[in-house]
Amino acid sequence: MTNHLQGKVALVTGASSGIGEATAVALARAGATVAIAARRVERLKALEERLTEEGARVLPVELDVTDEAACRAAVQRVADTYGGLDVLVNNAGVMLLGKIEGADTTDWTRMVSTNLLGVMYLTHAALPHLLERRGAVVQVSSTAGRVVRAGGGVYNATKFGLNAFSESLRLEVTQRGVRVIVVEPGVVATELRDHITDQEAKANMERTAAAMRQLQPEDVAAAVVYAVTQPEHVAVNEILVRPTDQG
Ligand code: NDP
Repeated sequence: MTNHLQGKVALVTGASSGIGEATAVALARAGATVAIAARRVERLKALEERLTEEGARVLPVELDVTDEAACRAAVQRVADTYGGLDVLVNNAGVMLLGKIEGADTTDWTRMVSTNLLGVMYLTHAALPHLLERRGAVVQVSSTAGRVVRAGGGVYNATKFGLNAFSESLRLEVTQRGVRVIVVEPGVVATELRDHITDQEAKANMERTAAAMRQLQPEDVAAAVVYAVTQPEHVAVNEILVRPTDQG
C-alpha cells in the first residue's frame, strides 16, 4: 500500500455502493481519511467497519445530495471533524433512462436534482476549503457526458451539464491551485441500472451490459486515485475509461 494521500481528507458521495464505495476504499488504502456519504446509512456503517479494520480513519455521513442545507452541513461536519477538506468526489448519481416522449417526469426531477444540483451544492460548499488546502474536486460524469443516445436525453443532459459546470469551475479556480477532474466511465457493473423505472429502457441497458466485459467499480476508483495523487503542478482534467468491449 502506498501512502500518497496521508494527511489528506476526502469526502466521497454515493459511497454506499458501486463506484463511490470502491473509490472510498481506494482513497483510504492510499492513506486518505475518508468521509463516506449517502442515504443508506447501514451500508455506510458496514463500509466504515471494513475500512476501520484496515486502519483507516472513516466518517460516515448520512446525506441526501438533493438537499442543499444537508450538503452544506455535511461539508461543514467533515471540515470541523478533520480541520479541512482536500478532495471532494461528487459521485452520487442516478441514471433513469427512458425516452423523452411519454416519460415519467419525476425521473427527470430526480436526475437533475441528484446529478446536477447535488454536485453544484456540494462543490459550492466545499470550495472555500478546497481553495484553502489547494485541493481537488472529482466529478464522476459518464461517457453520457460526451456521446448522446436516443433514450437517454435527460441523463445525457445532466452529464453534459456536469461537464460544462466543471470546465467553468476549472477556469475559475485552477490558477489558485484547485484541480478539477472529470472522470467519464463507460459501462460499469453496479446497481445503477437496477433503479431504471422504464422497463424497456432497463431491458435494453441490461442487454448492452451483458454483451460485454464490463468495468468493475475498482477500475474507475483506480482512475480517481491516479488523478488525485499526481504532483501539484499536474492537473489530470479528464479521464475517459470504457470497457475494451464497448463500441
Ligand atoms: P450505484 O447505484 O451503485 O451508486 C450510486 C450511489 O449514489 C449510491 O451510493 C447511492 O446511495 C448514491 N445516491 C443516489 N442518489 C443519492 C442522493 N439523492 N443522495 C445521496 N446519494 C445518492 O451506481 P454507480 O456506482 O454506477 O454510480 C455512481 C456514479 O457513476 C453516478 O454518478 C453514475 O452516473 C456514474 N456512472 C456510472 C456508470 C455505470 O455504468 N455504472 C457509467 C458512467 C457513470 P444511496 O442510495 O445510499 O443514497
